[in-house]
Amino acid sequence: MHMLIKNAGIVTNGKLETTDIYIRDGKLERIGKNPEISLTTCNTIDAGGLIVLPGGVDPHVHLHLNTPAGYSADDFRTGSEAALRGGTTTIIDFVTPHKGQSLVDALDERIAEATGSIIDYSFHVSPVEWRTTTAKEIETCIERGFTSFKVYMAYQDSIGLKEDALFKVMQSVAKAGGIVTAHCEMGDAIDNLRNSYFREGKVSPLYHALSRPPETESNAVKKAIELAAKASCPLYIVHVSSAESLQHIRKAQLNNQKVFAETCPHYLVLNESEYQGAFDQTAAFVMSPPLRKKTDNEALWEAIHAKVVQTIGTDHCPFTLSQKSAGRNDFRKIPNGVPGIGHRLNLLYSKGICLRNDFDFDQLVNVFATNPAKIFGIYPQKGAIEVGSDADLVLYNIRIPEQDLPDTSSSQYDTDIYKTIKTKGIPEMVLFRGEVVVDKGIVIHQLKGRLLTRGLFDNKTGCH
Ligand SMILES: [Zn+2]
Repeated sequence: MHMLIKNAGIVTNGKLETTDIYIRDGKLERIGKNPEISLTTCNTIDAGGLIVLPGGVDPHVHLHLNTPAGYSADDFRTGSEAALRGGTTTIIDFVTPHKGQSLVDALDERIAEATGSIIDYSFHVSPVEWRTTTAKEIETCIERGFTSFKVYMAYQDSIGLKEDALFKVMQSVAKAGGIVTAHCEMGDAIDNLRNSYFREGKVSPLYHALSRPPETESNAVKKAIELAAKASCPLYIVHVSSAESLQHIRKAQLNNQKVFAETCPHYLVLNESEYQGAFDQTAAFVMSPPLRKKTDNEALWEAIHAKVVQTIGTDHCPFTLSQKSAGRNDFRKIPNGVPGIGHRLNLLYSKGICLRNDFDFDQLVNVFATNPAKIFGIYPQKGAIEVGSDADLVLYNIRIPEQDLPDTSSSQYDTDIYKTIKTKGIPEMVLFRGEVVVDKGIVIHQLKGRLLTRGLFDNKTGCH
């Protein structure tokens, strides 16, 4: 099985240049003008005028997530299809054990749930409590190639960790050579605010946002950074939403602490005004942390430019309006989560490259694919256009004029928070493992996604 992509516009050292890419057996075999191969035996794609990027790596998705409001509205089959149509060919989801369950058993259960994926996938593993066996379980996960561990400082009544447990997890992960990823929100402070709003009869989605003010995030970010420094543990802060949090992250990075930050498309392009209105208009925007101010949007874009934020994950976790309605009379019961898995590239191109002077293709490739692959131990197999990398590529057509954001979803949820947004260009063609799987935005061929095991955290990881 081999293929030649002619006239591909690729980003090299910050510059767009035109080249040819020769693919064999699912890998990139040669990159350069006019490779000496016999065109008669080879499928050829003329990519003239298209930008060719590495397939996206989304480091933060929740597919088929079990919640009190039922499963999130995308399973591994439908979610991976949406990802693929949007140019993402690798996802990292989560393993969340129930209390008393070993991380390793929960990992095996979760692996079995993901077999419907049509793109490659891996998992972060979440210790939701500290038990005598937790350190050993972390070691076993790492030996098996699952090298990142997600901790929650929010949700103290279910999966959240108290400070002492969090510190022990960080010490164990550091010792075993992994990385901790952290949901930073002060759970107790938030619970107090939530309950007091509810007691005052303030029950609408607006109070979801007001009960999670920016300082509940930034105080948790500060705390997580301090604990990680003490434990000498690499730290990756998920879904950073506020300018205050960025200040702590920037400071730690200046001190040469291994701290990475992710933000999500919704924190870049939407703001708190979405919480003004009736339940049916506002419930869709309930996610944690909540949407912030326009000044936070701007601070996050600037932090991407300054390389304080390294990745864009979608935190994809859609629910239908009917599921969100569990909290119609009590915002505390609205399932948290929004879609985004298929929109990352479109939004970054349209709202970043087309509108900003401080965001270019080089940065797009870094936050969309290369940096998450590096941080989570799958580079250069993923996230790179290099000889030997997997032949996962997106051919983006920038000539498509402004239009409604293409609907990538194959699921029936009615809560797409981006539906009023216009974007430019489309991921016209996607190659996965060297085969054309998406053409003109439609999945034309399905391959079976593979479970990716990942390398240890590389202390030299330099992200760009
Ligand atoms: Zn999440």
